[in-house]
Amino acid sequence: MMRLPHFTFHSPQTVRQAVELLAEAGAGAMLVAGGTDLLPNMKRRQQVPTTLIGLRRVAELRHIANGTPSAALRAGGLTIGSGVTLTEIVRHPGLRVHNGGHAPGPYAALWQAAVQVATPHLRNMGTLGGNLCLDTRCNYYDQNYEWRKAIDFCMKKDGQTCWVATSSPKCLAVSSTDTAPALLSLGASITLASAAGRRDLPLAELYRNDGIHYLTRRPDEILTAVHLPRLDGWRSTYWKLRRRGAFDFPVLGVACALKLDASGTVEAARVVLGAVASRPLATRAGDSLIGKCLTDEAITEAAAKAASRAKPLDNADLDIYWRKSVVGEFIGYALKEIRGDDVTAARVRYARHALAIPIHAV
Ligand SMILES: Cc1cc2nc3c(=O)[nH]c(=O)nc-3n(C[C@H](O)[C@H](O)[C@H](O)COP(=O)(O)OP(=O)(O)OC[C@H]3O[C@@H](n4cnc5c(N)ncnc54)[C@H](O)[C@@H]3O)c2cc1C
Repeated sequence: MMRLPHFTFHSPQTVRQAVELLAEAGAGAMLVAGGTDLLPNMKRRQQVPTTLIGLRRVAELRHIANGTPSAALRAGGLTIGSGVTLTEIVRHPGLRVHNGGHAPGPYAALWQAAVQVATPHLRNMGTLGGNLCLDTRCNYYDQNYEWRKAIDFCMKKDGQTCWVATSSPKCLAVSSTDTAPALLSLGASITLASAAGRRDLPLAELYRNDGIHYLTRRPDEILTAVHLPRLDGWRSTYWKLRRRGAFDFPVLGVACALKLDASGTVEAARVVLGAVASRPLATRAGDSLIGKCLTDEAITEAAAKAASRAKPLDNADLDIYWRKSVVGEFIGYALKEIRGDDVTAARVRYARHALAIPIHAV
């Protein structure tokens, strides 16, 4: 049985107390929300904080409210506290997946992403903040201490080499959060709080394409809230590839959000890929759709564009060439879903098909 290392635990009740504790505790401290990712990582000695600051008793992080703090967005939108659980997101009426018919609602990408994270138990514990700050993953890193020691460790922890590409100067561990690509497609922004004050920034600016330093969040900052703009006329969706439909990290995530006018012409489009780089990857695939209706030809063109941009890494489950080929197919299905087609059969087929693919050996 793997045991947790020793650590000091604090359980603040306000953001102010939490940021002060974080500032006092210094470099060895980490935040823990649901603990569904951090605690297993600590058991494997991937992360060994000497102090943990628990956020579960901080009530002000656990609300979903109408409106956002930004003047430009105040007229609508939603603010989701970082301590809101994934189950609470799935159950929230303002985030429901459909507005009637098959076409998805404006925030459906977030709903789809949240409902496909892990298992019901993990979604009951796991929070939005923890999901957005999730550690990057890699076949050479997500192992116990003895396994990693046997290969002389890797660059991400205790070693020098990136075993995915031995000449790589930087770690290639993969961003595996489901909700980040979805929220990026929705144009989300976030609030970070520290003892020095608060700052708001676009969610895209939270991420770096570096498997070790994958967040721009300073160690003394807490992610307190996610802000979603009002999205009149938008429809969105999220498609996820994983080995087991019941639970598994994504080996590919595709988030699409489109704004359509009354005639069905595309006014704006965002396509973001997950699990193909150390950060969620925003693509220009939607550009070719602007000013057009979602015809089969327009969808095929956009899907081909995004597929050529995606370069999955050979350090996650399932064959990389197959994962790359699925990018275009997923974008095609996502756009058809946004058009209003019934794509249930394709979703079910992918959940089953992935199981039949052999595990790609490390
Ligand atoms: C078997 C299994 C399957 C899983 N499958 C998936 C999956 O399919 N998709 C997926 O996305 N995830 C998956 N996960 C990972 C995890 O369960 C989720 O990502 C969950 O949402 C993490 O939230 P948490 O609150 O438990 O985070 P924690 O484990 O508490 O924290 C995760 C990280 O975020 C930091 N953090 C937490 N809250 C804050 C905050 N407010 N501000 C700043 N930093 C913060 C922590 O310091 C830590 O580094 C899986 C985990 C397991 C064990």
